[in-house]
Amino acid sequence: MTHLRPPRKPSSPRPAAAPAHAKPAAASDEAKLGLAWLHTAKFLTSASKISQLPQGDMPEIAFVGRSNAGKSSAINTLAQQRQLAFASKTPGRTQLINLFTLGPRDAPQAFFADLPGYGYAAVARGKKLVWQKVMADYLEVRRALMGVVLMVDSRHGFTPLDLQLLQFIAQRVKTGEVKLLVLLTKADKLTKSESKKAIDDASAVLADFTTDDSDIGVTLFSSLRRVGVEDVAEQMMAWKAAMPERVHFELPPMPDGEVEDEAVDRDEEDEEDDAT
Ligand code: GDP
Repeated sequence: MTHLRPPRKPSSPRPAAAPAHAKPAAASDEAKLGLAWLHTAKFLTSASKISQLPQGDMPEIAFVGRSNAGKSSAINTLAQQRQLAFASKTPGRTQLINLFTLGPRDAPQAFFADLPGYGYAAVARGKKLVWQKVMADYLEVRRALMGVVLMVDSRHGFTPLDLQLLQFIAQRVKTGEVKLLVLLTKADKLTKSESKKAIDDASAVLADFTTDDSDIGVTLFSSLRRVGVEDVAEQMMAWKAAMPERVHFELPPMPDGEVEDEAVDRDEEDEEDDAT
């Protein structure tokens, strides 16, 4: 297993929240807590427009990547739920942003946002432009976005569209407002030396976004062989620890008639066990 290695310049200090590579134990208590937290993921709602997403302070972690990069598999593996992310692959729903809650159902602690996969060869140019606008809008202005998990096929490395996506969030990553974790997916297909090269190449690209304030990690990942899963779980716990205590959010109108509390203030739930 390869641990997260923020591609820091030699002179840069380590981030305050220790990256997973600082704790090499395979399944640390932190990883177990992280996995328990990730297991609480539940589908909340879909949105085809940014304006349909819930507003408020709920910390949000976005999952992004090219079509076929292994994003759905990664989300399902991390949540330890077989079907969680595959609903988004139903034809007609692929352009939707799917939101999942994390934490207790009546007092969520964070959202996962599964964003549309991009770069599918068959997608017409017009649709690509729509995608670019949606992604740029989302990544640049979504206020409570605190982390981006970018899935990149480890055999191919960053593609031009991945680099374009990185540009959308570059400013917020450099200031540390948005944390970045790159998963080099399908790592089971690589030899040891190819794995090392994949990490080195990705780290070289990510060095451009690294500042003293940024929080950037990269790890090999395989849903098939469960490579990197504990590392990601640890990193999610570190991100969770950096989330604000007090969270308020409002859900958009529910078209299906399912009534959820309109507003949840987590302040009252602070004593709850996080890892239920
Ligand atoms: P998405 O389009 O990014 O959501 O990708 P999927 O999760 O649907 O995966 C795309 C393809 O890659 C599927 O055929 C998966 O079976 C395969 N795949 C996903 N994760 C892995 C992995 O860890 N190892 C291998 N070998 N294949 C994978």
